[in-house]
Amino acid sequence: MLPEHYVDRLLKLLADLRSKMNSSSSDGSDAQTDNLPVPRENFDDALNNLIDRLSRHYPFHEPFYAGQMLKPPHPAAWLAYSLAMTINPNNHALDGGPESSYMEKEAIRLLVQMTGLPDQALGHLTSSGTIANLEALWVAREMHPDRPIAVSPQAHYTHQRMGQVLRHPVMILPVDEDGLPDPARIDPSHPLPGTVVVTLGTTGLGRVEPLHRILPWARRHRVRVHVDAAYGGFFHLIRDTGLIDPEPWKSFKNVDSIVIDPHKHGLQPYGCGAVLFRDPSVGRFYRHDSPYTYFTSGDLHLGEISLECSRAGSAAIALWFTLQLFLPDAVLHRLSGNREETKDASIADEAATAVGLPQILANCRKAALRLYDALEASDRYQPVMRPELDIVTWIPVTRSNSYSAVSKKTEVILRRGMDAESPESKLYLSTLSLDRSDAARLLPQLNADQQSVRVLRSVLMKPEHLGFIPDMMRRLHSLNDRVD
Ligand SMILES: *Cc1c(COP(=O)(O)O)cnc(C)c1O
Repeated sequence: MLPEHYVDRLLKLLADLRSKMNSSSSDGSDAQTDNLPVPRENFDDALNNLIDRLSRHYPFHEPFYAGQMLKPPHPAAWLAYSLAMTINPNNHALDGGPESSYMEKEAIRLLVQMTGLPDQALGHLTSSGTIANLEALWVAREMHPDRPIAVSPQAHYTHQRMGQVLRHPVMILPVDEDGLPDPARIDPSHPLPGTVVVTLGTTGLGRVEPLHRILPWARRHRVRVHVDAAYGGFFHLIRDTGLIDPEPWKSFKNVDSIVIDPHKHGLQPYGCGAVLFRDPSVGRFYRHDSPYTYFTSGDLHLGEISLECSRAGSAAIALWFTLQLFLPDAVLHRLSGNREETKDASIADEAATAVGLPQILANCRKAALRLYDALEASDRYQPVMRPELDIVTWIPVTRSNSYSAVSKKTEVILRRGMDAESPESKLYLSTLSLDRSDAARLLPQLNADQQSVRVLRSVLMKPEHLGFIPDMMRRLHSLNDRVD
């Protein structure tokens, strides 16, 4: 999977880079490694050990890994990351990561353009979506200290946890008949939230919550809106392709804050989340002095607008490099809705055919629809719902048709897929536990003999999944060779 030429290229670039930065030692010696000598045998032993330990992971890079929300970074990202981390810049301040901080600001500008937020929006990378959401919830608390934050029952579990960290109440929004959050149903005796969190792409079922209905309500009631698009945010790129429902995404650009994880659908290795704020004046909440840093430049140091101190400059560099390759200007141009106005036909043409993140997202989405159709046609499985992005959920058909029978068989299929001896039969899936209210709505055909039901789940976040669906169905059928 890892192309040889990338590695050769990487080592060559690294040698060039080091000699450029290290003009004093012309004899080729390396002060750093020379000062930390390691006997050759020890190194080889440890390395063999390392390779063995690494090989015990699941094969995340193969299409037959169709389980959790895990995606191998693009070689471009790991190439840039590995080069950069040998310099190890720190994007806390321009003192520690001068060029990498400017690259982070450029990458953030591209993410801002991708969402359609106004140009002056303030943002930065974080070590994860959880920390990015923590920052958004913290700003929400500072803006409305007397009012709760509201989240839907399907919101990521960390919102409740961060409410505890912030010692701020988090209320659960009522839902409509379709299980989607509807703040208009909040009990009038209850105080209105100061901020509602809307998830565009829930982690479990991959649902896109109705931002287009919630935002007008929120504006009428002077409630702020934070969008958790940690997983789903990049799907905004294919809003107008007819592959997904464009309505919720049309309001994306009008919200108060957005979280997107480049380490989910943005081809990055872990350690790369992002938070964006529409109103740059929220920067005031971050105000602090640092006795150690902020001395080399009068420009904004990212540590001045970020809760974390040290942050990996390499993560910013990897994202910057990847976006140069996969988020062409033409795509951003088209998204900004200027397509008709653009006089330059070549830009519009390029936008229509641009390769990059939109194609990757479109293929993941098509894979999900293809799997859904195949499950519908199967007599051994039934889909739980039509996927809204690239997460597909389904159940094995059972004789007794009950929550307990389905849960048990789901567990058996998960295990069999992982433990299969031959590589042609292996299939890595994940499972999801649906509580009674979701289960009663989505799976009314089942007998509710316990509180929850466990279903099969695949996040089809590799574009290669598109061609893999027939093979995946073959594997699924052999894992479920009889109805029992
Ligand atoms: C993954 C996810 C998070 C948490 O992000 P991490 O990067 O794993 O910390 C938050 N919200 C949603 C909707 C997610 O899918």
